[in-house]
This record gives sequence, C-alpha cells and structure tokens, in this order.
Amino acid sequence: MHHKKKYSFCRRTGLGWVCLVIFLFFPLLAHGNPQDHQFGYKTDSKPIPAGPYTAEEQAFIDARPIITVANEFDWPPFDFIADGLPAGFGIDLMDLLARKSGLSISYVNGYTWEELMEMFFKGHLDVVHSLSLTPERQQKALFSSPYYHSKNVLIFRSDALDIQTLDDLEKKIIALPKGWSSIEFFKTHYPKVHIIEVESSRQALEYVDQGKVTATVEQEGIARYFIKKFGFTDLALSPWLENEELQKTSSMHFAVLKTNPILFSILDKTLASITSAEMEQLKNKWFSRSGRQIGGEDVGLTPEERNWLKNKKQISVCVPPERMPFSAIRGNQVVGMTADLLEIFEEKLNISFQAIPALSFADAIDKVATGAWDIVPMISKTEARKGRLDFTSAFMEYNVVILSRENFSFITDLPGLKSKTIGMVAAGNVLERVIEKYPKLNYVPMETIEDCLIDVSTGQLDTAVLSLPAASHYIRKTGLTNLKVAGHSSIKEDLRMGVQKENKQLHSIMSKVVRSLSQNELDTISQKWLGQELENKPDYGLLWKSLSAFGIVLVLVVLWNRNLSRLNKQIAIAHEKLSQKTQELEHISVTDSLTEIFNRRHIEATFELELKRSRRHGRELSIILLDIDFFKTVNDTFGHQTGDTVLKLFTGLIEKNIRATDILGRWGGEEFLIVCPETNLENACHLAGALRRRIGTERFGKAGSQTASFGVTAFKKEDDSQAMISRADKALYLAKSNGRNQVERIQ
Ligand code: GH3
Ligand code: MG
Ligand code: MG
Repeated sequence: MHHKKKYSFCRRTGLGWVCLVIFLFFPLLAHGNPQDHQFGYKTDSKPIPAGPYTAEEQAFIDARPIITVANEFDWPPFDFIADGLPAGFGIDLMDLLARKSGLSISYVNGYTWEELMEMFFKGHLDVVHSLSLTPERQQKALFSSPYYHSKNVLIFRSDALDIQTLDDLEKKIIALPKGWSSIEFFKTHYPKVHIIEVESSRQALEYVDQGKVTATVEQEGIARYFIKKFGFTDLALSPWLENEELQKTSSMHFAVLKTNPILFSILDKTLASITSAEMEQLKNKWFSRSGRQIGGEDVGLTPEERNWLKNKKQISVCVPPERMPFSAIRGNQVVGMTADLLEIFEEKLNISFQAIPALSFADAIDKVATGAWDIVPMISKTEARKGRLDFTSAFMEYNVVILSRENFSFITDLPGLKSKTIGMVAAGNVLERVIEKYPKLNYVPMETIEDCLIDVSTGQLDTAVLSLPAASHYIRKTGLTNLKVAGHSSIKEDLRMGVQKENKQLHSIMSKVVRSLSQNELDTISQKWLGQELENKPDYGLLWKSLSAFGIVLVLVVLWNRNLSRLNKQIAIAHEKLSQKTQELEHISVTDSLTEIFNRRHIEATFELELKRSRRHGRELSIILLDIDFFKTVNDTFGHQTGDTVLKLFTGLIEKNIRATDILGRWGGEEFLIVCPETNLENACHLAGALRRRIGTERFGKAGSQTASFGVTAFKKEDDSQAMISRADKALYLAKSNGRNQVERIQ
C-alpha cells in the first residue's frame, strides 16, 4: 500500500524516474549509511555475499529461524559472559556468520559446559562453537573446518620443577573441566594419570594454584589470559605439548547435529566466505599479544602522577541520573558504557573508581567543580561548562536526532522546530549543545530522558531532542510505539571526562588514560551497548532506510523539480494518513476494548519479550497477577453496566499508580497482569502493596469501595512464562484463601 501510493504520486509529478533511481541505488545508500556502521553488527542487516546457497538452504534462511547457540560462562577469550552478555572470539565469529548468511542467533547461557553439551546432543541446541573434534563427538555431529589452532600446554605451580612433559604426569593428579575432550585423551593414552573433573578452566587453574592438583592442560592463549586476568602469578607454563593427538583437540570448530545438515552446510559455506582480513581482525581483537599492560605502563604516566595516584587511593565519579546507554545507577552500581570505561581505567591506572549518584546533571557538575568529587563521566565540553571544569579529549561522539510522534512530518534540522516545544534533560549534554547553537528555540527542561519521551508520546511535548543511542534505548525501554526519529540535527554529542579545574594532576592523568583507549576497546564498548539496543528492534533498520529515502527524495526534488513545498505537503499528508491508519490498526489489535489497556494477547506477547530479555541479559523481572475481590457481587447488586464502569475506573487507577516501565494488561474478566521489568521480588511486592492500599482508598462510583488480591513472583534462572504465571496464580489463590485484600508471593 505504501509503495502504491508513492508510485502514483511520483507519476503525477513526473518524477517516476527519480523514484527508479532511488529504488536502484537505495540498497547501496542504505548500506553505506554511517549509522549502520556506528551500530556494529545487526543480524538482520543486508548480508555480505556468502554462499552461493542452494535453493533448499536459501529457503531455510528465508524462513528466518532463530538459531540457538551455546554460550559458556567462563571460557575467555573464546566464549564467555562479560557483564551479562555473550562475548569472545567464538561469539564474534558466530555473529559474523549470522550477519553474512542472514540467520538470527539467540545465545543460550546459564549452563555449564557439560550441560550445554548434553542439551546439544539431545537436540535442544542448534550450534555449539569453539569446540574440538573427537571421534565420539563426530559420531553424532557435523564439524566445521577448523577456524582456530592453538597449542596445548601444561600449567603447574612454578615450584613444581619436575613437570615438563606428559610423561611427567604419571601417578600425579591433574584437574580437567568436565566434558572436555582431553579427558578422553588421558583415559586412553595415560591411564595412570589421576583426573579430577572440575567445573571450568578457571577452576582447574585455581586448583593448580592452590596446590590441590599438580597440573592442568589448557590452550596456551587461554592459560595466559586467565593468568593475567586473575593474577595467578605462581603458575608456569610448559613448552607446547608434542603430542599430535592432543594437539588435534585444540583446533576449534563449530558443530551441528547430523539431523540438521542444511543448517550445517549454510554455516560451513558461510565460514568459507570469511576473508582472511576479517579473520585477522577477529583474532587481533581477542588474542592480541601486544594487548594492553596492567598497571599504567602503557598510559605514559610520569613518576609524580603515579605517586599522586598512589596517595589518592580512590577516584570518585559523580554519575548523573539515568541516561542509558551512557550510565545509570542500579543498586549502588553504575551500569552502561561508563561502567565499562571505568573498568578499563581501573585496570590501566591500578586505582579504584567509586561511583556516586548525583541528583541531576547540574548537581554532578557542581559537585565536581567544587572539588567534592573527582570526575563527571561522559560529559560534553560546552562554552558554559569550560569555566568550571577541565575536559579530556572526546573519545566518542554521537548524532543528535529529533524524536516526535509518528504523524509528525520530517524535519531537516533544529531551526525547523521554531513553533514547537522541545524536551531535553535539564543541564544535560544535548541541551547545552543545542542552546549554544540555537538559543531561541522553545526548550522545555525535563528531569530524565524517559520523561521527555513519555511527554512526546502523550502529546504534552511536540518533540524531544537527544542523541541516537539514547533515543533507541528509551524507545525500546518505554515501549512507546508511536515515536519516530523525525529528523537529524547538525549537532553531535561529544563525550569526555570532566574534572575539577584546579586539579591539574588528575586532569593530566585522565587525559592520558583516555588517549590510551584503543579503537578496539572503544568499538567493543559501542558494539556491546549499541548492538544490544537494536537487537529487539528489527524494524529500526527500516526506520533508517525510510528516513534516508525521505531525505533523498527531498534533496532530489529540490535539485530537479523545484517543487518542494507542494511535494513536501503531499508527502506529509500521505505519510500522516498512512501512519494514522497503521496506528489505528495497531491500537485495535493490542487493546482491550472495555478498559483500553493491553489485551490478553498483547500482554502475553510483551511478557514473553521481557522474559527473553531477562534470560539473555540476566535482568530482573517480576509479575503481579491481581483480581478484584467479590466482583460478582458488584454485578449482582448494581448491574453489569456498573460492573463495567468499575472495571474502567479500576484499570485507570492502576495505570496511574504504576511506573511508566511497568506494563498492565487484562488477563481476563476482572483479573489483570502487571509485568515489571528490572524489578525484583521485593520491589514488586512493594508495588503490589502500594496498589492494594491505593485501591482501598478509592470509591468506584455507585459500587463504592472495592478491594483486590495480588499474587507476585519474580524471574528465576531457567524460568518460562508458564511457570511464572502459574506461580503468580498460586500466590493469588493464596491471597484469596487467606481472606482477600492482600498480597502474597511465591518464589
Ligand atoms: P473473588 O475473585 O474474590 O473470588 O470473587 P469474584 O466474585 O470476583 O470472582 P469470580 O471470578 O467468581 O467472578 C468474577 C465476575 O466478574 C464474574 C463475571 O460476571 C464478572 N465479569 C467478568 N468480566 C466482566 C466484564 O467485562 N464486565 C462485568 N460487568 N463483569 C465482568
Ligand atoms: Mg474476583
Ligand atoms: Mg476472577
């Protein structure tokens, strides 16, 4: 429908050929869009040519299946979890394969290696990667060609001088992780070596370090990584083990069960299409020998600066309220890009950074300017701030965009917003930057980005202006589907560290450590936080594409037709009509007609989505099931219509008293579900209690006061929606049978 409209519109204005040009070149333009690159990998972006695939393989890909791939806790640099997300060489490789082939991946973690292998061989997991090939495994699985070779070494305490070769292990005890192929090897070839099976490589090294066992066998790269990372300074490595069979076990492959040959051939073909340059890049990222050194050597500090740090002991970081993906405080910890940066700084400078929450952006600047705390992280250097703080150089920079409701017409830059209200976080980077350039626009300072978006969504504000990463984060987080990026601006948000003006030492140290950040380190952080932003939002790419198409249409039209204003109007009208229709349809399909809250189907789908997010990123999630007490009596006494009114008043009241991030839906009759993302059991019970009390003080029209009962539960590892609902249901039943008008929990 969209296309049809565009076409007839073009023909009328004699611009059919322009559309054709756009149509032909668009894939190229979209691909070359810097935004695509800024966001790193995206499994749904246009695949880089791989294959060619057979018709059967292509059909498999076109069905867009989600491929499940194993992800271990603790096996860096190949496969591990860093800050709740899959990371490592193997993970990057699988992502690359997905990107090239057009497949989508869901990583399965939370299990030991042994459990993952069991799941794989039972057919509950599609792919296991970074594993070695053994005859036993080969009976059931297809193995890719090797993509990494590493040499195995023995690791022992440096005082165990008699251990150099495998023969030296006779009658000694060694530790090996459960399910490892090297166990098979020792049992066959060195039956006199005693093996203790442990949970992970790291534990094996700990056992050696603590003297519980004599040695372990590990790939050299991994051993060195762990020794450095965990400071096992007493451990030593043997020369490479000269045993062909054992060395075979250190080639890395991925495997797919023989029952799934099409998936295997797609992945193996795609592996073959990876260029050596691409492979080198991945290897450099994870196995770089010239990796950064710990303790400040590569930062270039002077002896005075080192000394200053030594006396300082701790650097305090004043974190402004919630502004993901840059930073937020959760519990007493900072999360987001800032957390990753601080971790790198800690390692490089060998000093700890302590995060302290600020009341506002202005408060953070005040606290640092007056010397109460040391650093404001990820702050822009504006004229207004120059007098108060010193800044490091900028290590990141993001486009600032204009967000508005779906029916807002396209805007090319901020001056186009003259008669509109613009929400921005008070004293925040973007507001300061924008005011510098366009002091006369109609700004509305807000407390948080989330508030801005909600006000735009509900029509209280016309637009919000913010950086792209924040836009994508909070659109996803708030689930406000009627927002869109309505335009770009020429402004960028530059990110630096800000320190107190007189503090020359700290300024110099921070400048040096910021300068020492490698592109790799910065890319990893961006990819981690921005990649994640886009994962659950597959239509985001489309958004950009339609935006660029809009932009191109406008530019071409100016150049060749000089009929801009008429066209612009037509575009706006067409766009508006279309999006109104879409909005209406969307609204109808997700809304319960009586109460105007989400219907059963939509709340179920939302819950599933949130659950997936929690499972993947290890986030907290709770649900509250609530049911009005003795509602039948309302109907019986006052009639069905009054009952309906009570239901409307009731849901209205609940909506007003939950947070913007909580999601309310009608579960059935007079029963409702509230999904509370990023909320633990305690807080969910707290919310339920507050709702219960609030209901108790309300009068519901003719029907007077009402009460409700609540069942609460929280997400546990390996939970699914059914299990959670059934626990919440049981808790609700308990609340009913204990006399109603109360909250019960089951964990
Ligand atoms: P309790 O939950 O405390 O055990 O008692 P109850 O009387 O609320 O429970 P029950 O589930 O037996 O009754 C729920 C009633 O809600 C039955 C049904 O007539 C009424 N109901 C369900 N949907 C609607 C609706 O859309 N409008 C109206 N007016 N009533 C509804
Ligand atoms: Mg009831
Ligand atoms: Mg009921």
